[in-house]
Amino acid sequence: MLHDTPLITTVIVGLGLAFVLGTLAHRFRIPPLVGYLLAGVAVGPFTPGFVADQALATQLAELGIILLMFGVGLHFSLQDLLAVRTIAVPGAVAQIVVATCMGLGLALLMGWTVAAGLVFGLALAVASTVVLLRAIQEWHLMETERGRIAVGWLIVEDLAMVLVLVLFPAVASLQAGGADKPAFEPLAAQAGLGLAGIVVLTIIKIALFIGLMLIVGRRVIPWVLHYIAHTGSRELFRLAVLSTALCIAFGSTKLFDVSLALGAFFAGMMLRESPLSQRAAQESLPLRDAFAVLFFVSVGMMFDPVSAIREPWPLIATLSIILIGKSLAAFLIVILFRRSVATALTIAASLSQIGEFSFILAELGVASRILPEEGRHLILAGAILSIMLNPLVFAAVGWLAPHLEPRQESSSTTAAAYNPIPVAKLTGHTIVIGYGRVGAIVGDTLRQQKLPFLVVEVSENALAKVKASGIEAIVGNAAHPDVLNATNPAQARHLVVAIPEAFEAGQIVQQARSANSNIRIIARAHSDAEVDHLTRLGADIVIMGEREIARGMIEELKRRCPDVAERDAERAAGCPKVRANYADRSSV
Ligand code: AMP
Repeated sequence: MLHDTPLITTVIVGLGLAFVLGTLAHRFRIPPLVGYLLAGVAVGPFTPGFVADQALATQLAELGIILLMFGVGLHFSLQDLLAVRTIAVPGAVAQIVVATCMGLGLALLMGWTVAAGLVFGLALAVASTVVLLRAIQEWHLMETERGRIAVGWLIVEDLAMVLVLVLFPAVASLQAGGADKPAFEPLAAQAGLGLAGIVVLTIIKIALFIGLMLIVGRRVIPWVLHYIAHTGSRELFRLAVLSTALCIAFGSTKLFDVSLALGAFFAGMMLRESPLSQRAAQESLPLRDAFAVLFFVSVGMMFDPVSAIREPWPLIATLSIILIGKSLAAFLIVILFRRSVATALTIAASLSQIGEFSFILAELGVASRILPEEGRHLILAGAILSIMLNPLVFAAVGWLAPHLEPRQESSSTTAAAYNPIPVAKLTGHTIVIGYGRVGAIVGDTLRQQKLPFLVVEVSENALAKVKASGIEAIVGNAAHPDVLNATNPAQARHLVVAIPEAFEAGQIVQQARSANSNIRIIARAHSDAEVDHLTRLGADIVIMGEREIARGMIEELKRRCPDVAERDAERAAGCPKVRANYADRSSV
């Protein structure tokens, strides 16, 4: 009875429990992701108590992957992708081959067929998009070369998997000898094309898809969003962003057989060309985060803790392939391409897990009776454990990289990127939180006056502006204690909290105040309640945006209109000068 729990229960219980366990994990300094996975295990069918709908959770997770890849596309340009192709393409292909062979070897040792071994090996070869991107974002690597290589590598793996998934039914039907045809069959196979024909057709489809996106998508998507932005409706704009990402992802799956994630990635990349992209990215953030959490919950639901303990050796071997074998292969390949040890370690750590593609392959393998049931269990357990261990792997890499790096070149920069947030050396400085419309103006003035200051920014687009101006900047959410500590608040003179969100601003104010009782805190607010909130938490001065705008308007009216009216009847009629003046400012 409990198995047919509806959508709403699954979403509410999944998100609710993920929230509780994620917070608990955070409390114990474990990544919240582990809490989400455990939430999944708790509502899964293998543990007693409430059982959420697994099929629904998986579909919701798919939405998370689409939105996540859409977000990555928004930060990724075609140039970025092409810049890393020399290493990402051969690297990913070689690593897939090596990992597949290892999986095949283990499968043969367990007495499975070669076909089962190939499916098993391929499932162990591909990393999870969600896990990789989370890690890259968490460690502030998105902007670094190694971050780009990791994402490029991921895209190549994604493309390879598209090919595998398309070819799978055809190969499976050959395996089954035609008598026992699987339920699904690609059109090409039905049309009697051979294996080579299917490969060619798939490549043509992918090329067509990419071509269409580059030619049509690049023009049409920004045009639609510009049009919607001009309606002035935020609701419509959000809807436009969301439906663009989803429709392109869905359309590309239906028309070109590429994966949903890949379709969404290209949709995001097309949007990047438009100046509205930053807004678009922000509009999709909350939804993306919610659905990414559901992804981890749905993974956790598939985990059967008892079966993992029952037969430990095959699981240990599987896990070793994922954690050690695959990473070692990636590490060596990157080193072979003469990249630094730090880059090689990052790529290795990024790939030391498996996820969504592996589940799909395992499902297909079992459905077509190629892969034994045990194979699916091993893949699932390997995925869960490797996802749980991934944050630890990254932490270990962070600790190792600076030690392994040769002393001469850039060892300090690698250490900095790994110890992602070193504490600023400035003293008596001003900390500016947020470099948007408000923070940028404050920053410009500080720079002109040659006062020491640094900026904390969470958005990569805004950060690019900061860096272009040569200003010292820290990437990350300033409400995070590590990020704020890195600004050296204890020895700062002023803190300017120029972000619009009062809850986060409150967190920042409170932490800065407890780090330094003398720091002068100036914060931004948009309502009386926010002014109270921020003052209570320790801000010295809270500037309420709307009140300042009104004040400025009154000043202008008092100052200009009477004079203008006396001297120039025509201009006085509508105070055009005043209007022009404000039009200028509002566009700042
Ligand atoms: P605006 O409202 O145009 O002044 O933009 C605010 C800026 O603050 C944006 O660039 C945001 O990315 C940035 N921002 C918002 N919240 C935070 C935060 N918690 N930490 C750092 N930067 C932030």
